[in-house]
This record gives sequence, structure tokens and C-alpha cells, in this order.
Amino acid sequence: MSRANTRVVKIGDRVIGGGNPILIQSMTNTKTEDVEATVKQIQALTEAGCDIIRCAVPTMEAAKALSEIKKQISIPLVADIHFDYRLAIAAIENGADKIRINPGNIGSRDRIQAVVDAAKERQIPIRVGVNSGSLEKELVEKYNGVTAEGLVESALDKVRIIEEMGYDNLVISIKSSDVMMCAKAHELITNQTDHPLHVGITEAGTLYSGNIKSAVGLGIILYQGIGDTIRVSLTGDPLEEIKSAKRILKTLGLRKGGIEVVSCPTCGRTQIDLIGLANQVETLVQSYDLDIKVAVMGCVVNGPGEAKEADLGVAGGKGVGILIKKGEIVKKVPESELLSVLKDELDHWGK
Ligand code: SF4
Repeated sequence: MSRANTRVVKIGDRVIGGGNPILIQSMTNTKTEDVEATVKQIQALTEAGCDIIRCAVPTMEAAKALSEIKKQISIPLVADIHFDYRLAIAAIENGADKIRINPGNIGSRDRIQAVVDAAKERQIPIRVGVNSGSLEKELVEKYNGVTAEGLVESALDKVRIIEEMGYDNLVISIKSSDVMMCAKAHELITNQTDHPLHVGITEAGTLYSGNIKSAVGLGIILYQGIGDTIRVSLTGDPLEEIKSAKRILKTLGLRKGGIEVVSCPTCGRTQIDLIGLANQVETLVQSYDLDIKVAVMGCVVNGPGEAKEADLGVAGGKGVGILIKKGEIVKKVPESELLSVLKDELDHWGK
């Protein structure tokens, strides 16, 4: 089902599916047992625009820490559990708003049933997550390797197991570090289920390659109307994941708000330190919630024309900077003052 028609699922005080806005998730990389550090990171991520946070629950101490963490944060918390069904139940008892499990590694049917019963009692959704790295042997053999078809079959098998246990408050994720396999799996599964999908490219890599792989993968999937929540997985600071996720959604026209910076690629006519200036502007605009476009151009000759589609722009040339509004030069300032002039404009935008 396209995201307009997936089932609505409630996670804490947020709703996903059924055409609701796509929410951004991230995952803490602190020790969940360390309440103070985890809360601090969640608060910073919330400030940056994270809608839902996931914490690993590898120990009983981590499960118990969830109740204290929950008291100090304002976004829904998802507990991520592998292998031990008792940790899943403890996480639910300690206030997790959703749990993420792979029923394939939770063990016997009785154990899965115990987790499902606990979730059902509190009406919290279960995310059924399958990952290309842990696809069952039978499916690898059936499809001659790890394939999109195998991933889909694995996910739907697990969904069926839980549905047969009498619970259908579910979200599905199928992840692969192979971008095209991941995209194909989403295209296949979307016609076979109406449960919301959490989308991400797993183990995407460091900032550089992770961003590119996530942008390409999520771009293909989201553009087809698939996906209700997203995560950009990066080997790096989770704050970068939020920045990238917001940019991906904005680029696809799926989220409004936030200043978009466009900057020229520089050429032989560039007369200022444009790379430095563009980076400074990119940092400056993070703290404004204006839905506008700001252009940063390298020369006063072509800059204004090339910045025509932007609401606001700056261009520089031989020590002189210009301020541009909708392609018109409105002010000349010393180059060194360009950033502060731009800041002043943003501070007073729309006032
Ligand atoms: S705006 Fe000027 S410096 Fe930048 S690419 Fe265009 S011509 Fe070159």
C-alpha cells in the first residue's frame, strides 16, 4: 500500500501511516544503561528534529533504565531487542512506546507469544524488522542467495506469525545495505501489506557514503509513495542522521520548513572564499525555521542572475559583497560583512 493507504499506527503521542507526515527516527549510541548520557543525546536529537528515538536494550539494566529515560524526554521511545524475549517484555513494562524485534531470533513460538501478549496488553506497536544480514538459511537457499524476494517473504512470514497470535498493531522494516535490493524489496512488499513501513538503508557507511546511499535508496523508495517513517543510518554522530533525513524529505517535497541553501559550484570567475562562506551560511541557517531559499554565489556578474530563484542571496567579488533579493541587488557591503548582513536579514525576515 502506498503511504496514503497504510494503516494508522500510534507510537506514543505520534501517529504514522494513513498519509500522516513521514516521521524521522534515529537511534542513540550511548549505553542505554547510562540514563544521563542517553537523555542528553535524545534531547539534542529532539532539538535537531528527531521525531522518534530508538534505544538498544541489550541488558535487563537497560530495559529498566527506559522508565527513567522516558520521564525526561518528549518524543516516543522504541526499544530495540535481539534474542532475549524477557528483555522485550521488560522494555514494554518499563514504558517503551514501541518495540523492535526480529521474531526470527526471539526463539520459540511461546516466547514470541509472551512478547506479543505484553505488547497487546498495553497496545504498543511491534516493529517486525528483517535484515539482509540475518535472512533465514531456507530463504537464502530457496532464492539462491540473499534477494529482495527472500527479504519480503521473511518479513511477511513473521507478520503472519504475530497476526495469527491475535495482534496486528505492526510496523514492518526490511533493511539491506544493498541499495537496489532494498528498493526492490520495498516495491514488492508494498503491494502485499497495508502495515506501515519503516524505511532505511542499513549499514550505509560513514558520513560520505552513508549519506549518498541513503539519499539514493530513500529517494527511490519515498518517491514511489512508499514509507511512513525513515532513518538515515550513519557511522557517525546521530545528529548528522537527522540533518540528512530532514534534507532528504525536503528535497523530495515531503516536508516543509527549514532554509534551503543553494550555492554555486565555483568557477574561474569566483572572487571570494565561496566554499568557506557557503559552509558558514549552511551552519547559520540551521537555527532558523523559515521556509525560504538562500543562494550563495561566487561572483557579482552572474551571481544575481543565477540566484534569481532564491528568496535571498549573497554574492562576492574583489572585497565587495552584495545582498540579493529575488535576483535584485539591494545592498553593497564589504565582503567581510556578508555573513552578518545575511544574518540580520534572516533575523528580520517576514517582520
Ligand atoms: S555564480 Fe559566478 S562564480 Fe559562481 S559558478 Fe556562476 S559564474 Fe562562476
